[in-house]
Amino acid sequence: MARIFCVANQKGGVGKTTTCVNLAAALHQCGQRTLLVDLDPQGNATMGSGVDKRSLEQSVYHLLVGLTGLAEARVTSPTGGYDVLPANRDLAGAEVELVSLENRENRLREALQQFDADYDFVLIDCPPSLSMLTLNGLCAAHGVIIPMQCEYYALEGLSDLVNTIKKVHANLNRDLKIIGLLRVMFDPRVTLQQQVSAQLEGHFGDKVFSAIVPRNVRLAEAPSHGMPGVVFDKAAKGAQAYMAFAGEMIERAKAF
Ligand code: ADP
Ligand code: MG
Repeated sequence: MARIFCVANQKGGVGKTTTCVNLAAALHQCGQRTLLVDLDPQGNATMGSGVDKRSLEQSVYHLLVGLTGLAEARVTSPTGGYDVLPANRDLAGAEVELVSLENRENRLREALQQFDADYDFVLIDCPPSLSMLTLNGLCAAHGVIIPMQCEYYALEGLSDLVNTIKKVHANLNRDLKIIGLLRVMFDPRVTLQQQVSAQLEGHFGDKVFSAIVPRNVRLAEAPSHGMPGVVFDKAAKGAQAYMAFAGEMIERAKAF
């Protein structure tokens, strides 16, 4: 059975895509059959996986509006080895088109259902909003992974996301739970970051992953080479943190 995880945070630039791409590649390296679903019209997860978003014949957009299926739209990341359901600008139009479609928030869930046996992990990279696209991600998932920076406003933004997850759990997807908070772009030299990190642990206990992803320039450089950081520079601190995170995810997924 595939365990499906949504990587969500309505803020942009908090490390969702970096987390998805590196976790997918790290899981693949650990022998897990993995699919990465790019649900962001920016297509950053697609490009960061070494797939050219400008030359897609079919994408997650076509899948959501019912023009294609997963078997036709998925491609294999040439650099990461995992499968990708890619996205590009076309997806921006899906938001409007979905409104008039039946069962609009469950389109992704239904499309993934028939491929349950193909994967151990499915990771969904959400756009920076609580939109119909994110809703499709949350309805398809068993759990949510929330990457966050340990800064002053981080907790404030978190309550909106937690409320949305609670509403989706109550009304649309009883399977959904928060798997954990992942501290990313962490700089231990900054006292405030240490304080917020300790606050998170106090507040959320074992919902906070033990792995901490440091601020690491090699992770930021990797996408321009169309490569996950864990492939681009295995020895870098950021890559090692994502490998440790993958190990933790494999452990937590066993509890499902
Ligand atoms: P999101 O998907 O939430 O918008 P991204 O994953 O695209 O966020 O990250 C935003 C920017 O920060 C990108 O330029 C990315 O390369 C960079 N970045 C992400 N994680 C790290 C990290 N741990 N260290 C350094 N740069 C990072
Ligand atoms: Mg992103």
